Amino acid sequence: MQLIPRIQESHDVMTAWRRDIHAHPELGFQEQRTAELVAEKLGAFGIEVHRGVGRTGVVGVLRVGNSHRSIGLRADMDALPILEANRFDHRSRHDGRMHACGHDGHTTMLLGAAQYLAETRGFDGTINFIFQPAEEGLGGADAMIKDGLFERFPCDAVFGMHNRPGLPVGKFSIRTGAMMAGGAYFDVAITGKGAHGARPESGIDPVLVAAHVTTALQSIVARNVKPTDTAVVSVTQIHGGDAYNVIPQQAVLRGTARAFGRETLSMIEQNIGRIAAGVAAGFGATAALDFRVLFAPLVNDATEAEFIADTAAELVGDANVNRNGGVVMASEDFSFMLEKKPGAYIQIGNGDGEGACEVHNPSYDFNDAVLPLGASLFARLAEKKLARMAG
Ligand SMILES: [Zn+2]
Ligand SMILES: [Zn+2]
Repeated sequence: MQLIPRIQESHDVMTAWRRDIHAHPELGFQEQRTAELVAEKLGAFGIEVHRGVGRTGVVGVLRVGNSHRSIGLRADMDALPILEANRFDHRSRHDGRMHACGHDGHTTMLLGAAQYLAETRGFDGTINFIFQPAEEGLGGADAMIKDGLFERFPCDAVFGMHNRPGLPVGKFSIRTGAMMAGGAYFDVAITGKGAHGARPESGIDPVLVAAHVTTALQSIVARNVKPTDTAVVSVTQIHGGDAYNVIPQQAVLRGTARAFGRETLSMIEQNIGRIAAGVAAGFGATAALDFRVLFAPLVNDATEAEFIADTAAELVGDANVNRNGGVVMASEDFSFMLEKKPGAYIQIGNGDGEGACEVHNPSYDFNDAVLPLGASLFARLAEKKLARMAG
């Protein structure tokens, strides 16, 4: 591995940062301590600090030279509502909160790169270090964007990274185009007419309608989504009624939809609405749909995906960078930034041994062996994108 020597030297320091963050996990939009730690370190490195971008987000700005070129490097800071099962010293100090997705590691890798870049200043342009809150389904990236992220901190391109358990340390995986699914949550409220359970003829049963709607929705993936495309429509909740002898007035269906393109997601939305309304109307009931896109599909720009893969290959060798990694049905909030700016998102191996415990598992831990590699990648991305022009 061709790590940046100066970053390699701070491996112990980064490990201490990472374990400190791991021990003090904070949920989305509550990252007060983490944001303060990040801001304090960036300030100490001599980097301009902007707090409170998208509520608890932090942006560090490092300008060198007079070129107008710019890059955004992004890490996430939030933890999950999980009771940690690990017993090691740096386990969570807060029962029911845990860094089970490795965002402690992502934050640390970006801090490591920031320290190195602030010390060495081997580039010409502006680096924006973006520490986003609330990646886990609460809309932190969107909050930063709506708070003027890219107007206040212009970026020619943005890059993000996520650890991947099961992929050996020293390996990367990426693909061009759609890599992770976009995801939506939906509610279908079905209104019928309440009646005595023994007198169905005087009511309109929304529970029966809900059952028919649930079945009919399965036709969307089977019949409306292109067979070469991929999507999921899952009804995960059906609520209706409180008594054995009462036909309720209302029933509610809830679920999630996933797809790799915005068009497919809106097609699914339209079809859920039409099918629910049509089926309900057939029974004399009505249906109202609330469909909320929580994650955009994550789509890597072809040029920038090649750029990040080439940069990773310089560190670990081309054989250790899988440029045709598989698509992932899970979602990632960085997708909203990639809808605004060209860029790419890469997976970094968290190890296939002990570190192979899946993310979101109570026994997961970020693998500290990965820290210098991820920090080196972030640093090299900036140095290459903003390379000093000869002469
Ligand atoms: Zn996660
Ligand atoms: Zn994550």
